Amino acid sequence: MANLGVPKNTIAVIQKYGFLFQKKYGQNFLIDSHVLEKIIAAARITKEDFVLEIGPGIGTMTQYLAERARAVTAVEIDKNLIPILGETLAEYDNVTVLNEDILKIDIMELAGRYNEGRPIKVVANLPYYITTPIIMGLLESRVPLDSITVMVQKEVAQRMQGKPGTEEYGALSLAVQYYAEPEIVANVPPNCFIPRPNVGSAVIRLTKHKEAPVRVADAELMFRIIRASFNQRRKTLQNSINNAPELPFSKEQVARTLEAMGLPPLARGEALSLEEFAGLSERLCLEATSESVKGT
Ligand code: SAM
Repeated sequence: MANLGVPKNTIAVIQKYGFLFQKKYGQNFLIDSHVLEKIIAAARITKEDFVLEIGPGIGTMTQYLAERARAVTAVEIDKNLIPILGETLAEYDNVTVLNEDILKIDIMELAGRYNEGRPIKVVANLPYYITTPIIMGLLESRVPLDSITVMVQKEVAQRMQGKPGTEEYGALSLAVQYYAEPEIVANVPPNCFIPRPNVGSAVIRLTKHKEAPVRVADAELMFRIIRASFNQRRKTLQNSINNAPELPFSKEQVARTLEAMGLPPLARGEALSLEEFAGLSERLCLEATSESVKGT
C-alpha cells in the first residue's frame, strides 16, 4: 500500500471509498510525512513496544507505527473507516484494528492481552472534542503506561505544559504534571491536515512519572482544592476555596494556612506550584481533622 503521508495517496483512498468526513468525530487526517516522522521519533518507539493508537482514521500514522513497533492496536469509532483500514494496513500482521469507542474500551485488558501488563505507549492524532477525557482517563487509570504522545489543539498543549504565574497555568497543568512530565515537541499548522482544522495544533509527549512528584494523603482533596482555586481565577484562594460548596474550609483557615506556609494570605491559585498545593491540601486536611476531633 502506498505511503499515506503523501497527500495524493490520502486523497486517492478517500475518493476510492467515497469517504465523507464526520465533524462529530473530529476527523482531520494528517497529510504531512515530516510531522508523522516527528511524532514517531518523539514517541521513541522500538521493536519491543506495544502501541495503542487512538483514532487511526485511514491508517496513515498506523503505517508508520507498524513499521517501528512490535505490535499496534488501533481503536477507531467510525465503522465507515474499518473497510478502508482493512486495505491500507493489509500488509502488516502486527496491527489489530478495533471498531470501538476509546472512552468505553477496557485498556487495562488490552495492555494485559497484548503487552503482558507491561507499560504501553499511546500515540495518536487525537479527536479534539475528547482530548481531556482521553488523556486524564489514561493518566488517572491504573493502566500501565510509559508515555502518551499526541497531537492536540495547540492551546491545550500549552495549558498542559503551563507553569505557575503564566496565563496557561491552571487545573489541567497541575492534573497532567502530577502524573507526567509534559514536553511540546512540535507545533503543527492547519495545512498539515485534510480537512484543515480551524485551530493550530501541537504534538506533546507526556512521560508518565515513576513516582508522583508530591506526596499527599488525600489526592482527591488536593484536586478539589485545585479545581476550586481556578474556577474563579481572579479571586484569591481564600475566596475561591471558601466559595466551593464541596469544600468545608473557611476564609480564615485558608489565610492562616497560607501564612503558615510563608505564602501571602491574599495569594491566587495561579501563584502556587504543585508542591505548594500539596502542602496547602495536607495542612487544611490536618486542620479539618483536628477541629472535628476538638468538636467531638
Ligand atoms: N490518525 C488519523 C490521522 O492522523 O490522519 C486520524 C486522526 S483524526 C484527528 C481522529 C480520529 O479519531 C478519527 O479517525 C475519528 O473517527 C476517531 N475517533 C473520534 N472519536 C473516537 C472515539 N471516541 N474512539 C475512537 N476513535 C475516535
